[in-house]
Formats: sequence, C-alpha cells, structure tokens
Amino acid sequence: MSAIPVLETITAMREQADAWHARGEQIVLVPTMGALHEGHRALVAHARTLGQRVVASIFVNPTQFGPTEDFSRYPRTIEADLAALAATGADAAYLPSAEIMYPPGFSSRIDLTGPSEGLCGDVRPGHFSGVATVVTKLINQTRADVALFGEKDFQQLQVIRRVVRDLDIPVSIAGMPTIRESDGLALSSRNRYLNKVERDIAPRLHSILVESAAMLADGRMAAPLLSKGMAALEKAGFGPVQYLELRDIETFLPVIRVERPARLLTAAYLGTTRLIDNVAVLPKT
Ligand code: AMP
Repeated sequence: MSAIPVLETITAMREQADAWHARGEQIVLVPTMGALHEGHRALVAHARTLGQRVVASIFVNPTQFGPTEDFSRYPRTIEADLAALAATGADAAYLPSAEIMYPPGFSSRIDLTGPSEGLCGDVRPGHFSGVATVVTKLINQTRADVALFGEKDFQQLQVIRRVVRDLDIPVSIAGMPTIRESDGLALSSRNRYLNKVERDIAPRLHSILVESAAMLADGRMAAPLLSKGMAALEKAGFGPVQYLELRDIETFLPVIRVERPARLLTAAYLGTTRLIDNVAVLPKT
C-alpha cells in the first residue's frame, strides 16, 4: 500500500492546493478528529465522487471540548489513521499542530445563534463555536471547494451550513447519511469506550429513535411521544439522557407535531460514554 502524503503546515497545504487548482482540480475536504472507523472511510469514499482531490484533516480540536469532557483521553491512532486514509484513496492527510491552529495571541471565535441553540449547544456550551471556528480555518487553509460532513452529527452539519451561508464562505457543504453497525449502532470513535454490557445496550439508542420516529410521523402531538421515548431510553439503561428532541429540517426550530420533514435527535450517556444519534421523521401524508 502506498503511503499518503502528510501535510503539516498551512504553507505546505496551500502549495498543494494551488497546484491542484492550477490543473483545474476541485478539492474536497473531509474534516476529522482521527480514530478513524468505517464511517470516516465511507466519507472519504463519497468525497471521491464530489471532486478530483480529497484531503482528510486530522485535528483533535481542543476548543470544542468542555473542561470536563474527554479531550485528553480522546483516542489518538495516527499510524492506523494514515494507513486507512491511504487504503481509502485520499490524496493527502492534513495534520496541523495545535500551535499552527492556535498560535500565541489567537483571539477570534465565531459567535453563533440559530441552529447552534439547544440540544448539544445547551449541554456543551461553546462547543459549536469551537467547531465553527476550526472548520472555517480548515476550509481556508485547504482552499477546499467542497467540505463533507456526516449526518451522524446532524446539528453540527446544520450549524456549518448556516455559518458558510452567513459568512459568504466560498465552499459547498455536503452531508452523508450515518454509517451503522449491523445492529443499528452509529459508528463512532467513542464506541471503543463501551464495555461488553454497554455495547449490548447501545443499539437501543437507534431502535428507540426509529420506534419514536414512526409514531411521530403519524402527526400526533410530539411532547408525550418524546417523554415516552426518554423513559424508554432510561429503562434500556441510558442515563442521564440529555435530550430527545424533534426539530424542523429547514428552520431547525422545535416541532410540535410533524407536518413537514423533521429530525429526531438524542444524546445520552451509557456509563461514562456519551452517545449521540438522530433519524429523519417524514410526515406520512
Ligand atoms: P469526528 O472525527 O467524530 O469529528 O467526525 C468526522 C466526520 O465524520 C464528521 O463529519 C462526522 O459527522 C463524520 N462521522 C462520524 N461518524 C460517522 C458515521 N457513523 N457515519 C457517517 N459519518 C460519520
């Protein structure tokens, strides 16, 4: 297997990007935090269909983790990640250091409202501002024409779409459906924290979402169904369940009953591991 070019500075990244652009090639960026799994590999494979050159970035961004979150224990598997990217056919890996991303005196952050409010925005204060800032930097550094994100982090995808629109950033944002284990569990770098008992419970997160979504699609009042879903998650062994909420796909505002396409989203702890997932809810009529 041939090694993948690794670019570690903004200058090296931009020189490569300019060379590709000079040949008329479009650059597709797949931002990641490493610890790559099949979901990331599917993103890279899909990225290949969106442009001629694929750059996967690996950067565990400190500014999107809260003080009590898992930044220091976040899995770092760089050698395996580079091998996976080479095998999936990415053209380059972009690995900026924290010093390059946040040099002394760094003092700017994107301030958000709208889709960042509620859900993960409430339980992870500052998280989306950190994500929006680092993604904007990565897009600027790689000169990406397209940036691709997973629907697994659905609120993140909505936030980034809005930032790019609001700040007139010349890039297209693309999304890709969640890749799951055969039992429905969404692939996540954090799944490796689950012990055997937790791993057996974990797919209930998705199945309870699917069951709740089927009832919500009938157009019944959402609130009692969401309470029932929360109770089902707790009974299955999740806790605390941080949220189970229904949001409009366009406005990302809370939905009282489903009349237009919506999304059902949840975040819940299983032991010490925080899991998130979401599914589409389409009105039946
Ligand atoms: P992360 O490394 O967790 O920051 O994720 C990098 C990108 O991979 C984000 O756009 C995620 O939404 C996406 N991603 C993570 N897990 C999955 C999955 N199971 N299916 C599809 N995309 C995913």
